[in-house]
Amino acid sequence: MNHLIARMAFVGIAYYLMALFGIRFTVTDIGISVVWPANAVLLAAFLVFPLRQWPWLALMTMAAELLASRGLFPVTASIAFSLINIFEVSLAAWLIRRGMTVQFDFDRIVSATRFLVFGPLLASCLAGLLGAGVYTWLGQDGSNYWPLWRLWWFGDALGLLLMTPLLVALWRFMGRGLPAFAPRRLLELTALWGALILAAPLAFEPWGNAVQAFSLTPIVLLPLGVWAAIRFGVLVTVATLVLTAGLAISYLVNDVYPLGSSSPQHAVWLIQEFLAILAVVSIGLSVLLAEIRQQNLALEQRIVERTSSLAQANAELNAANERLQTLVSTDFLTGIANRRSFDENGARILQQMKRDAAPVSAIMFDLDHFKKVNDVLGHDAGDLVLRDIIAPVTAVLRPLDLFCRYGGEEFLVLLPGADLQEAAAIAERIRQTIEDLEVQYRHQRIRVTVSLGVAQWDAAQYLDELIHAADKALYEAKHSGRNCVRVSGPGDMRSAAQA
Ligand code: GH3
Ligand code: MG
Ligand code: MG
Repeated sequence: MNHLIARMAFVGIAYYLMALFGIRFTVTDIGISVVWPANAVLLAAFLVFPLRQWPWLALMTMAAELLASRGLFPVTASIAFSLINIFEVSLAAWLIRRGMTVQFDFDRIVSATRFLVFGPLLASCLAGLLGAGVYTWLGQDGSNYWPLWRLWWFGDALGLLLMTPLLVALWRFMGRGLPAFAPRRLLELTALWGALILAAPLAFEPWGNAVQAFSLTPIVLLPLGVWAAIRFGVLVTVATLVLTAGLAISYLVNDVYPLGSSSPQHAVWLIQEFLAILAVVSIGLSVLLAEIRQQNLALEQRIVERTSSLAQANAELNAANERLQTLVSTDFLTGIANRRSFDENGARILQQMKRDAAPVSAIMFDLDHFKKVNDVLGHDAGDLVLRDIIAPVTAVLRPLDLFCRYGGEEFLVLLPGADLQEAAAIAERIRQTIEDLEVQYRHQRIRVTVSLGVAQWDAAQYLDELIHAADKALYEAKHSGRNCVRVSGPGDMRSAAQA
């Protein structure tokens, strides 16, 4: 409610001031305003405020119009003029807003086009038909109907064209805050408006004496409108147009008729047409550029979003790949390397050691009578044993040793840099460690032993052959009573003690 009262007051006062301006300052000696900017106040209000507030706002403008034109016309004529204005603005606003799903603003070419077609072109034209009728009825001059219609139409159209975008833009900016101009832009704006004021005499003022009066053309001001549109956007463009219109009208009301016009009426028409063309070109350009900028921003935004979602998908893919790689190369039960990963890395290690002419050995070990653990305590207990021997065995190994579960309850260790003796010593430590280990399963303590076979790599051997030699030594260990280490030598098989 407070909102509405504030809006009514604002619209009433603004309408009154604009009407006063239209009546007092732009009326030519023929009695019709060159520009009627008051309707723009109501149209801007209708475009930005909700429909249910329209009647109150319209009522305010009627009061304002009666006040502004008191003494100029009979009250009935003033009321008629006011009703015509309200009709014009309501029709325009209703047509412009019809079917629009977004708030009206001069930021899209479709909005600007709807405004241009339904406001200055259609509604003002229809209002002119009625307005000229009232003028004729007032007994001004009956034969003047069509010229009056045209004057009314163009006066209203110009007022809407110049002031509506300015007021709507100002209203929108009040919501978001005025644009902050960098000092250099402010300097440029000063240059633009300075140029406009300096060029105005070239555009509007005839030179020479009355007989041989020469005047350049208002078209010299067109580049300034384009400058505003390209560099500053809608608000400054409209402000520039308003300044241009002000300059043009100031010549008219001071009886200086531009373009070598023969009659005041002719001068008014020419000025109106010039201002209308200038407004359509400049505002249209500025709105078009604003729309393109917005579309570019939206496009950039989408590119940024797409890029970041792509990067995220990529990161997820990489992580999944890493997980997959780990899964593929890791033994599911124990978490150490599996046979596949042993084969890949083992071959690589042998190549490296060959280059360095360093020894490499392998230990293969197998749990003794492991079937019994499964048979007596169950498969879970067996699994637990397999898992629990990993940490103690790893603790015995050196960082570069490659430890893998070769299959079932068989394990394989590749020891780069270790000769047969060093490897046999490590194998014995493994044996001892496992012999000492107690695996706690529910209320049971499980003890296991392992048999181990050790072999040293001969640089002419493949990895398979090394494994085979270690396996043969393991077989020997099993046959020697288990829980012992056997080393493989060229042709003979010795106990770890002998080695
Ligand atoms: P040996 O001393 O001759 O090696 O006797 P063993 O019983 O250990 O040998 P055998 O090869 O007869 O049996 C191996 C057993 O290991 C059979 C199988 O039930 C068990 N085993 C193999 N893989 C797993 C596993 O992943 N979990 C469990 N719980 N048991 C396994
Ligand atoms: Mg076994
Ligand atoms: Mg076995």
